[in-house]
Amino acid sequence: MGIDASEGSSTIDSQNALLNQGIHRRTSMHKIVAPLFLMVLLFSGCSSASKSSTDAASHNLKPSLRMMTTISGYSVEGRPIERWSFGTGDEYVLIIASIHGDEAAGTPLLHRFARHLAANPETLEGLGRVVLVPQVNPDGVADKRRHNSQGVDLNRNFPTSNFQSRQRHGDEPLSQPESRALYDLIQREKPRRVISIHQPVGCIDYDGPERARGLAIAMSEASDLPVQKLGARPGSLGSYVGLELGIPIITLELPSQASRWGEERLWDEYGEMLITSIQF
Ligand SMILES: [Zn+2]
Repeated sequence: MGIDASEGSSTIDSQNALLNQGIHRRTSMHKIVAPLFLMVLLFSGCSSASKSSTDAASHNLKPSLRMMTTISGYSVEGRPIERWSFGTGDEYVLIIASIHGDEAAGTPLLHRFARHLAANPETLEGLGRVVLVPQVNPDGVADKRRHNSQGVDLNRNFPTSNFQSRQRHGDEPLSQPESRALYDLIQREKPRRVISIHQPVGCIDYDGPERARGLAIAMSEASDLPVQKLGARPGSLGSYVGLELGIPIITLELPSQASRWGEERLWDEYGEMLITSIQF
């Protein structure tokens, strides 16, 4: 996917023309001219980060933003659950995909979002960090199935007052390594808000305090997806983050046909909405 996903620190290189294509239909954010954040940025394509901004401008190069890759945990079958972090500061927005392994569109959309963040540092100006977890359920993704490899729906396995002990939900909350990895991440550093990407309903659902509704409306206005309340499911991440922790959470339901789209089509459809989700 053009991203070095190895453990430890890595940098996404600018993808040149591909990155600069951006969003075609909704171009408001591209009117922003990128300032040079010299303290945290590297000049992509330059052999040395000490090159001056004049040099960068004369070569028509944009600064790129460093992506820090860490491993949040491992799946039942031992696959790493990666965490990609951009920016600096204590506050962060958490965006996750593929907690249901057969909802395929979220992962390539986050790959494309990562490339946008790397090449457009101004997106994060004054906003702290963005943390992406592109595959919460890597075993499910590998097998194209909703559940993890122990047959548990991870989005029913969180510690909530409405948790229901069932075979498909797990005997007890956090019985699965994948849900524990996400839980530990959220407990260790409470995010400012959470976006969880699903399919196939085609709507924007929200849970949590009143500002979650405002965020959902803003994301709807930046896309063609309507705001729709789907109801808090037992043991779901929405119930845990929104109702138990009181943190705004969006359950972003992309339509089923999004699974057939490549990264650029996904970005064209939903890029502005994702940017809105962190800048709101
Ligand atoms: Zn889902």
